[in-house]
Amino acid sequence: MKIISAVTEIREIIKEWKRNGLKVGLVPTMGYLHEGHLSLIKKAVSENDRVVVSIFVNPTQFGPNEDYETYPRDINKDSALCESAGADIIFHPEVSEMYPKGACTYVNMTGLTDALCGKSRPTHFQGVCTVVSKLFNITTPDNAYFGQKDAQQLAVIKRMVKDLNFDINITGCPIIREEDGLAKSSRNTYLNEEERKAALVLHSAITCGQSLVNDGERNASVVINRMKDIINAEPLAKIDYVEIVDMNTMESVSVIQGEILCAIAVYIGKTRLIDNFIANVG
Ligand code: AMP
Repeated sequence: MKIISAVTEIREIIKEWKRNGLKVGLVPTMGYLHEGHLSLIKKAVSENDRVVVSIFVNPTQFGPNEDYETYPRDINKDSALCESAGADIIFHPEVSEMYPKGACTYVNMTGLTDALCGKSRPTHFQGVCTVVSKLFNITTPDNAYFGQKDAQQLAVIKRMVKDLNFDINITGCPIIREEDGLAKSSRNTYLNEEERKAALVLHSAITCGQSLVNDGERNASVVINRMKDIINAEPLAKIDYVEIVDMNTMESVSVIQGEILCAIAVYIGKTRLIDNFIANVG
């Protein structure tokens, strides 16, 4: 497995792969890899001849007061994990390689990016769409893999691929959790012992919401309020949002019908964590 930081170099290798008719999978990440990322990499390895994992903490998707500087990084550990999962290349560019001096072009989306995380993080999805478009253009994958953990991001990427005619198949992969239910996240490392316990409130709320919907509750406010009550009972937790939206439009629904996304963002101390469930109600 190789670690490559230059766009020209990775392009040459991938062109050669393509000349030989090999199918290429891409797994975009910000690194500090865990089992969630590894599930995507393993799926990519099982469905492609060659797999590229990008590791890039993308400054344009962080807001001014967010954790860009402190975001955890460990390229040595990540490269061992990628190798063991069967990846062929880690693409690990410097910020100046991805955004050379003078770069001023962005990919912007409307609608889908207004709700949920887009409301709390107004420049986030512009950064995500821009960097993912660049990674798609640099690595020209046949398949790219994203986690349902970031369900709005997955919906946004699928829409962008459709709208901008990227010839890439997007695969969503299920949320991987710790044994006690907390969704795996690189940001979980920010939590101290007390906060780690308090963070379980996200999973409790998600489980409760999911049970209510499974048991036939169709009033979105009833589900949302029950979930909020659970989160508010935890003193270290502060709700950013608890919402139920249409899976395709990301618009709030009052009646739970069709494919819906129930998504939450909660601060545990200073750490913002997200979780969700998807339901398909006939
Ligand atoms: P990140 O490094 O946090 O930007 O995540 C890179 C990719 O891994 C994204 O597509 C995430 O949705 C996915 N991912 C992160 N955490 C998980 C998880 N717990 N389960 C499944 N996928 C995940």
